[in-house]
Amino acid sequence: LTRKRFGQHFLHDILIIDAIVAAICPEPGQAIVEIGPGLGALTKPVAQHIDSMTVIELDRDLIARLDQHPSLHTKLNILQQDVMKVDFGALATKLGRQLRVFGNLPYNISTQLIFRLFSYTYAIFDMHFMLQKEVVKRMIAGPNSKAYGRLSVIAQYYCNIIPVLEVPPIAFCPVPKVYSTLVRLVPYDKLPFPIRDVRKLSLLTSLAFNQRRKTLRNSLGKLFSTQQLEEQGIDTTMRAENVSVEHYYRLANLLAARHC
Ligand code: SAM
Repeated sequence: LTRKRFGQHFLHDILIIDAIVAAICPEPGQAIVEIGPGLGALTKPVAQHIDSMTVIELDRDLIARLDQHPSLHTKLNILQQDVMKVDFGALATKLGRQLRVFGNLPYNISTQLIFRLFSYTYAIFDMHFMLQKEVVKRMIAGPNSKAYGRLSVIAQYYCNIIPVLEVPPIAFCPVPKVYSTLVRLVPYDKLPFPIRDVRKLSLLTSLAFNQRRKTLRNSLGKLFSTQQLEEQGIDTTMRAENVSVEHYYRLANLLAARHC
């Protein structure tokens, strides 16, 4: 019995599962962490390559079933917890290395979770996530497109983003309504465009994209004068979706400098 509120769609296509495990390429000694192992469709083949891994699962019944599995029992460090409350920094410290995180994520919390994981990128080596195709499209979108938004600007700030595999609905049970994409996110070792206070980027992109239809002069008018925006090379009659990621990073730095 699947629990809809937990966003449960279990993978059952062997070829797809093999392709995901090959993309992750788990090796002994790595700090592998799975979010939402469910019935273990990915957990079992990943665990074959390594001695131990950490899994984070909210559904107690699924944990009981996973833990009983003979090939997993000795290998799993199980956190029965809401992933939104896990301290990934502390987990990396405990495991003594940067984490390799993966999961076929519950779609109802996926974007929220990804935003949260960005605050732990210092503790994460890479991430492989199964997401709604639409979400990956938004992550990699550039300016002047409908998909471009807050997620694009913030994801591209932290990570190199590589779509790996498109997955049809029939690969899951129950069958979801949408296509999915496996994406690899590799946090930059050295940020290409460091911002002194990333909270400013969050604030700025919320203001701009929550009012997508307004011109920047209106949506960002509380933060910047028209002159200040123009000094940054921004045409203030444009809308949020016309501004490049670099321009958002520059504006965030301007705000951060102001409040130092
Ligand atoms: N990995 C399995 C697979 O591929 O077949 C299951 C994937 S299913 C899409 C998502 C899993 O995440 C479910 O097992 C669900 O119980 C779990 N989950 C949902 N919300 C969660 C949360 N807040 N914290 C941890 N796990 C959660």
